[in-house]
Amino acid sequence: MQGILYLVATPIGNLDDITLRAVKVLEAVDYIAAEDTRHTLKLLNHLNISKPLISCYKENELIKSDILISKLKEGKNIALVSDAGTPVISDPGEELVHSAIENNIKVVPIPGACALIAALTASGISAKEFCFVGFLPVNKTEKTNKLLSLYDLDKTLIFYEAPHKLLNTLNYIREVFSNRKITLARELTKIHEEFIYGYIDDILKDIENPKGEFVIIVEGNKNSTDEVTEKLINSTLEEHFSFYKNLGYSKKDIIKMIAKDRNVSKNEIYQYFINLK
Ligand code: SAM
Repeated sequence: MQGILYLVATPIGNLDDITLRAVKVLEAVDYIAAEDTRHTLKLLNHLNISKPLISCYKENELIKSDILISKLKEGKNIALVSDAGTPVISDPGEELVHSAIENNIKVVPIPGACALIAALTASGISAKEFCFVGFLPVNKTEKTNKLLSLYDLDKTLIFYEAPHKLLNTLNYIREVFSNRKITLARELTKIHEEFIYGYIDDILKDIENPKGEFVIIVEGNKNSTDEVTEKLINSTLEEHFSFYKNLGYSKKDIIKMIAKDRNVSKNEIYQYFINLK
């Protein structure tokens, strides 16, 4: 009989956040596949569990998947854990799960801590509908394009970010989304857990040197496209132009869009900006 692949959520700070079921599974499996074996060893020592560990991190996941799948086919049960929280969520595991399903191996999630859910529930921002983005791309253009693709969404947006990139990412979000309501969830479940509620501009003024782990929750776009267009039509042509420019559109596209919004010819808008020079 084939073994079972368990996806075991581990704490994101407070070690008490491991579930009873997670402990039972970790005690019962034949192997534990871990993102960082040294990190997981500390948790296992805390739980008094001794198990063979197999390292499975992002860069070796494809190779390790084959080894883990052959062990599962031999009937061994394996628990996959990441450094913190739920495996697969901005963590390794997706390839392994994919491969397990293809090989008809049973995959069982053992739910528990997950930073995005903890942050969202206490954010005060709507949890009715949300979009988890995770980490934004590092490349500047890709980052802007990703944010632009989310600009219109009226659902809550959730981002992960490393502390040293937090201010930079908040500035990008401000640039593309304007001054939206956000919540920063810092050091969840840890001693210095903190929720910072407010508008991006105010928060940017207040934080200088962010420390610890952060989840960024951003309110969805509350302005319907009609309302936005209405505001743009009532603004000056320069303001109208700046709005689209800040969203990263080319001059040619901006002229086309302004003409459409104002129901005038492209040439009329083009001439206006030529005459300004
Ligand atoms: N798999 C994890 C989960 O279930 O949330 C996420 C892992 S991802 C590599 C790490 C990111 O999650 C951090 O950069 C941060 O954005 C967020 N995170 C993890 N633990 C956190 C905590 N205790 N407080 C705030 N954010 C946290």
